[in-house]
Amino acid sequence: MFVDSHCHLDFPDLAAREDAVLATMAANRVGHALCVSVKLEDFPRVLALAERHANLFASVGVHPDNDDVEEPDEARLVTLADHPKVVAIGETGLDYHWQKDAPEWQRARFRTHIRAARACGKPLIVHTRSAAADTLRLMREEDAAGAGGVMHCFTETREVAEAALDLGFYISFSGIVTFRSATELKAVAQYVPLDRLLIETDAPYLAPVPHRGKTNEPAWVVHVAEEIARLRNEPLERIAAATTENFFRLFRHARRS
Ligand SMILES: [Zn+2]
Ligand SMILES: [Zn+2]
Repeated sequence: MFVDSHCHLDFPDLAAREDAVLATMAANRVGHALCVSVKLEDFPRVLALAERHANLFASVGVHPDNDDVEEPDEARLVTLADHPKVVAIGETGLDYHWQKDAPEWQRARFRTHIRAARACGKPLIVHTRSAAADTLRLMREEDAAGAGGVMHCFTETREVAEAALDLGFYISFSGIVTFRSATELKAVAQYVPLDRLLIETDAPYLAPVPHRGKTNEPAWVVHVAEEIARLRNEPLERIAAATTENFFRLFRHARRS
């Protein structure tokens, strides 16, 4: 069985065909998925998905790209995370690709999430883009290692992976690792220790080869696992078992269904 460690099933394209998306998951042996929230306004819909389906889990957080949204404080995140199906804080982090002026509010919001994760004892889902040095710096300053977590949709260098691993974090690969052009990332996927690897779709985005350009869905996390198995010269079943075990070790509040 596989786990999609990061998807957005509440987004319209996927929410509109919820039953079909769940059925395709089951048909492809994708047993569980973590539905990641990106703003507090949409959190009730994310949580409702996890409440409707035993094999879906939720996170609570505000994405660094969202500037015109309700700003969370630590107490509010901790309160919302106090639910058996909320297994993580995020997604949070820094994204200087879309926010080119590297605004201070992004860093303040990231610090708030790290503090909330430590306070409630649930791990972090970290998004980083064009901001690796600051992301790692804030993780160290706020003791993100105390909460643990995952660098999701990893696209950084081996050195950044090494620094995140040193902080006790897991590294999650998305469909990007299946792209032919992603040679440096393929090398990182060979390097990360098997007991720190996660796989994800980030659906509806980033559909893997051979579905590139289409609306992504959790069932296609299998293609991410296949590419990682190929790169590491390991049986697919070993990658499936390890990434599933890693998921439930990291997100220890998630119950297998
Ligand atoms: Zn992200
Ligand atoms: Zn995401």
